[in-house]
Amino acid sequence: MAEREVLFKCLNCGHEYLGMFDMNNVTERVCSKCRSNSVRRLPKPKPAKK
Ligand SMILES: [Zn+2]
Repeated sequence: MAEREVLFKCLNCGHEYLGMFDMNNVTERVCSKCRSNSVRRLPKPKPAKK
């Protein structure tokens, strides 16, 4: 259970996308839009609290 779906955000163009974060296979993350490697991993959005 090393894989987790996390949200990535490109710091270059602001593109956000979901991807798999595998702690055992850390690959270089690049933006699918502008191919920048300035991609930051964001916490997965939680359900809104009432
Ligand atoms: Zn980008």
